[in-house]
Amino acid sequence: MTDTKREIPILYLVVPCYNEEEVVEKSAAVMGEKEARLEREGKIAPGSKVMFVNDGSKDDTLRLLHEIAAKDKRFAVVNLAGNYGHQSAILAGMMTARAHADVVVTIDADLQQDIEALDLFLESYMAGCEVVYGVRNDRRSDGMFKKATATAYYNLMHLLGSRVMTNHADYRLMSKKALDALSEYQETNLFLRGLIPTMGFSSDVVYFDVKAREAGQSKYTLSKMLTLALDGITSMSVRPLRLIGGLGFFVFFFSMIMCVISLVDWVRGNNVPGYTTTMIVSLLIGGITLLSLGIIGEYIGKIYLETKHRPRYIIDTLVWRGEDKEEQ
Ligand code: UDP
Ligand code: MG
Repeated sequence: MTDTKREIPILYLVVPCYNEEEVVEKSAAVMGEKEARLEREGKIAPGSKVMFVNDGSKDDTLRLLHEIAAKDKRFAVVNLAGNYGHQSAILAGMMTARAHADVVVTIDADLQQDIEALDLFLESYMAGCEVVYGVRNDRRSDGMFKKATATAYYNLMHLLGSRVMTNHADYRLMSKKALDALSEYQETNLFLRGLIPTMGFSSDVVYFDVKAREAGQSKYTLSKMLTLALDGITSMSVRPLRLIGGLGFFVFFFSMIMCVISLVDWVRGNNVPGYTTTMIVSLLIGGITLLSLGIIGEYIGKIYLETKHRPRYIIDTLVWRGEDKEEQ
């Protein structure tokens, strides 16, 4: 936590929209009203905005967003050239907003995430946190399938060593300092939920209730969800590669034992002719192949991590005083 007192921040809400024509007007009204209220209560500074990111919608979303922004300067629109997906859309919004905002909160367009939690987000920021994670209280509003797959997924991610936060879905506050740090990460395979916790910074968790979607259907199709899930695993962890390595070592070890057993059998004259040679050849080839794959996997894992060019450290604060020169 910082010991300097924070000033009331300019807040930008970043709202990704993909085919949200049924809901954007309602969302804009609710979000605009909430910001106006926060401003009146002195919790955010004038100049705060709601920034919609149109992620290549094919319906009327963009036209509606233009209308909303034309009526009220509280609203801004970032229009992406195509559909890049939820993660890239919020990154585009955050990176655009960070030039103007002190804090950015990313929130879905469908009003499922309780906007009243913003007060708590801001409280944690004022107390010195750079990142605040919104975590849903329960999964009552989800279907059986989503509930079961989500739980299994978080368990798998933790098993693989990811620091992803259970039931946190990109409803999150980030300070300008944290956003500047995030901008140092150049990777294309983007899984913000896993990446941000690895950056460090003092953080906090705020619990909120999830409501049913205000209007329209979920824009996360099964294939989009699977892509996100796979990105989550492969972008954060090289543990799957290491598992292959472990398997290779195990199989190699096992095949060595089998080789010895069949040689002993041969010496004792216990087997049919040709058995020993066949066994040894196939065991050696199998064992050595898998072991080699494992070793190659280790190197690929290293190359993979190197190619991301992640910052190796992030400085939070620096206290540095030059030596006082004594004037004579
Ligand atoms: N979204 C996006 N690009 C996409 C898919 C979704 O920007 O390719 C946005 C969508 O408009 C919404 C948010 O991501 O604001 C979350 O999507 P949704 O509410 O459909 O997901 P769910 O709540 O069902 O997981
Ligand atoms: Mg939703």
